[in-house]
Amino acid sequence: MKVLVVTGSSRGIGAEVCRQAAAEGWKVCINYASSEDEADRVVAEIRQRGGIAIALQANVANEDEVVTMFERIDLELGPVTGLVNNAGVNGGGTRVDEMDASVARAVFDVNVLGAFICAKHAIKRMAKRHGGNGGSIVNVSSAASRHGGPFTYVDYAASKAAIDTFTIGLAKEQADQGIRVNCLRPGVTMTEISVDYARQHPGWLEWVLPQVPLGRPGEVAEIANGAMYLLSDRSSYVTGAILDVCGGWVSP
Ligand code: NAP
Repeated sequence: MKVLVVTGSSRGIGAEVCRQAAAEGWKVCINYASSEDEADRVVAEIRQRGGIAIALQANVANEDEVVTMFERIDLELGPVTGLVNNAGVNGGGTRVDEMDASVARAVFDVNVLGAFICAKHAIKRMAKRHGGNGGSIVNVSSAASRHGGPFTYVDYAASKAAIDTFTIGLAKEQADQGIRVNCLRPGVTMTEISVDYARQHPGWLEWVLPQVPLGRPGEVAEIANGAMYLLSDRSSYVTGAILDVCGGWVSP
């Protein structure tokens, strides 16, 4: 049975990926930084439907906590064969000339280094050179990596652009190890990260939605569908790809 860890999956897109993966037969680890109750609710929901799930705390930017998480997954579910690097945070919501560097640093720590650290420890279990049988990694970027997030989130957008490039390099680095690496770029989805942002920046949604050809935010299930395609064997000949699931917002 395949074993999946989805970082930042106590709610939102990550929680939905866990629900869909469990329904498709994966054993899943729900990871969170601080929202234990929300993570436990996702576990309970999956178990009620007959799936196998555990919840483990680890701040993805803290390598010691990530190491402990992967060791517990080894013991409780078996070595991971799938990783979705989904945990992400917003920045301070200002122009760059008003930016607080410590807030921007925290964005890069979680959104970029967190993904590198989790990939490192997943690869140690998946790669043939480490005795593994291969696996699949999906990195969650954002349409912001294409439009740049001017005036309020250039730091966040740049962190997601790093994820796009990380995907391309890692895919080439790990292809002969049996590991596929792909990237999902969601557009506006009304999870907590976007609802908070819209509350703090009145008028933002009214500015964004006219730019989205499909004219509405995405549903978490629609975003998770894209992640499941990239994660599963349905995309067995796909690696280093970036899939835009953004209603056409930033598509060429
Ligand atoms: P969300 O509802 O705010 O959920 C974020 C999740 O990340 C939570 O489970 C949170 O748990 C976890 N998290 C935050 N920091 C963490 C850390 N350091 N270590 C481990 N977990 C951490 O966000 P979402 O909308 O589902 O976003 C998921 C991903 O999609 C993010 O990478 C985001 O950038 C990307 N995305 C979202 C949208 C959108 O419109 N929603 C658009 C494009 C891209 P805790 O509460 O425990 O920290």
